[in-house]
Amino acid sequence: MANNRVFNFSAGPSMLPLEVLQRAGAEITNYNGSGMSVMEMSHRSKVFMKIFDDTQEKFRKLLNVPDGYKVLFLQGGGTMQFSMVPLNLMGATGKADYAVTGHFAKLAKKEADKYGQTVDATPMDAFTSIPAQDKLQLSKDASYFYYCSNNTIEGTQWQYVPETNGIPVACDMSSDILSRPIDVSKFGLIYAGAQKNLAPAGLTIVIIREDLAGKELPITPAIMNYQHMIDKDSMYNTPPCWCIYMLGLMCDWLESQGGAAGIEKLNVKKANMLYEALEGTKLFQLSAQKEARSFMNVTFRTGSDELDDKFVKASVEQGFTNLKGHRSVGGMRASIYNAMPMEGVEALCDFVRKFDKEN
Ligand SMILES: *Cc1c(COP(=O)(O)O)cnc(C)c1O
Repeated sequence: MANNRVFNFSAGPSMLPLEVLQRAGAEITNYNGSGMSVMEMSHRSKVFMKIFDDTQEKFRKLLNVPDGYKVLFLQGGGTMQFSMVPLNLMGATGKADYAVTGHFAKLAKKEADKYGQTVDATPMDAFTSIPAQDKLQLSKDASYFYYCSNNTIEGTQWQYVPETNGIPVACDMSSDILSRPIDVSKFGLIYAGAQKNLAPAGLTIVIIREDLAGKELPITPAIMNYQHMIDKDSMYNTPPCWCIYMLGLMCDWLESQGGAAGIEKLNVKKANMLYEALEGTKLFQLSAQKEARSFMNVTFRTGSDELDDKFVKASVEQGFTNLKGHRSVGGMRASIYNAMPMEGVEALCDFVRKFDKEN
C-alpha cells in the first residue's frame, strides 16, 4: 500500500481513509487560514462553530435523519451509553427488554440492571446467530427494546430492525453506523462510538427522538442527561472538537463514495469476497452462522490454536495487522469497515488461499 501503510484489520480504533488523513495532515497547523489547528481552538469560536454545524448537517444528510430527531456529539464511548440509555429511558415503566446477542449487549444489560428490571429477549447458548423476528420474546410493558446491530467480537449482524409494537427501539450501532442506509424513523435512539467506522476514538454520536428525552431518573448526572445535552447543543462542556472535525472530513469522503447506499455496495462486495474465499478453503471455518454473518467483522478459525497463531504471525509478515480474534473468543477476525479498501480485502483473500494450500 502507498506511504508505507499496512492493511490494518483492527476492530477499533480502526483505519481511516488515506485521503482523510492526508487532508487532516495538510490542515493540521493552520486550519482554513485561522492560523491555528482545530486542536487548539475554542469550541465556542466562530471557526469551530462552523465546523460543528457543517458536520451536523453532513452527518444528518448522509444518514437521512428526519425532523424530530436530535444528533448529539458526546464523549464517553459506547460504554457510557450502556448507563446513559437506562438512566434516561428506564423511567417510563422501570423495565426494559435486552436482546443479548453478544458481548457488548451483555455488558449493556448488566449496567441497565442497576436502574431497573431487564429481561433477555433473545436467550441463546452461543453468540453465533441472530434470532428472527418471531423468536423475539417481547414484554408488553418494556420502557424500551435494546439491541446491538453488529456484534463486533462475534462477527454477527442484524439484517432487520426489530418490530416492537410501538415500544421505542434503542440500538448500539458502534460498529456498523453509516456502513449502510437505515430508516432512522424506526428507532427511538441510536448511538455509536465513532472509532470503528467514522472517526478517531473520543466521539460518541447519539441520535435521539426528541420526545424520549427529558424523562431521566432523578439521579442522572447532568453530563449523562440527553435533554440537558440537547438544550446545550452538545456543548454543556467541551465536546471532542478534533474528532468532530475528523467526522466532518469522513462525511465528505463518504459522500464521494456515493453516500450510505454507495458505501453499502462496497462493504457487501468486500465481505462477500472474503466469505467466499474462506468458504473455498479446507482449513478455515467461519464462526458465525451464514444468515447472521457480519459485513463488518469477519470471524474465522482453523480449529487448531497452533495454526491460528501461525496464520496471525504469517499475516503480519505480509503487511496485515490486527487479524487476531478478540481474546474472549480466539480465532481470527478481519474488521473491514468503511475505510478498508477493496485491495486490502483482495490481498487478504489471496493470503487466505495461499495459507490454505500450504497448511
Ligand atoms: C467497541 C464497541 C463498544 C465499546 O465502545 P467504547 O467506545 O470502547 O466504549 C460498544 N459496543 C459495540 C458494538 C462496540 O463495537
